[in-house]
Amino acid sequence: MGQAELRAGALEPRSPVHAFVGLGANLGDAVATLNWAFAALADTPLTQVLARSGLYQSEAIDCEPGAPPFVNAVACLSTGLNAPQLLAALQQLEQAAGRQRPYRNAPRTLDLDLLLYGEGRIESASLCVPHPRMGQRAFVLQPLAEIAPQWAAAAAAPALAPQVLRRMNDPATGLT
Ligand code: AMP
Repeated sequence: MGQAELRAGALEPRSPVHAFVGLGANLGDAVATLNWAFAALADTPLTQVLARSGLYQSEAIDCEPGAPPFVNAVACLSTGLNAPQLLAALQQLEQAAGRQRPYRNAPRTLDLDLLLYGEGRIESASLCVPHPRMGQRAFVLQPLAEIAPQWAAAAAAPALAPQVLRRMNDPATGLT
């Protein structure tokens, strides 16, 4: 889906849905990039940012040895985009942030995952929702639980305890 198709005027209106997006970065100024991404999500057609978690630093998982740590956060959106349109919008933001894919799980300037799209369950070649790995990732569940408390029990699962997260100061919000 191209930029033109994502312009609000070209989109069929539909009832807004609450969607959750996981943000991550471990290349460049990750804090600045995540704050840019929150603003860019708010500028996405038919979309509002209802809530943003704080920022967390986490060790890279499933990456090459020595990969830089990640900065992670989660956003709650209200969106009139359908799920494939929203995924396309997220991928355009990754590109705009300079995302390159030289090899699998390479360090990235910006990674945006569609975690949840309302109550939707989607399993297509290009989109799986709920995100298939979110239940094993403390760096998703802890920030998610901060803005969606119904996920608190999942975030506190003992199996996630070895994954160490550090809450960061967020210069954009003053949150610590
Ligand atoms: P990544 O390397 O994490 O950016 O993975 C991007 C790929 O995962 C793309 O090919 C997407 O089509 C696919 N994908 C499947 N489900 C999702 C999802 N829920 N959120 C983001 N990307 C997804």
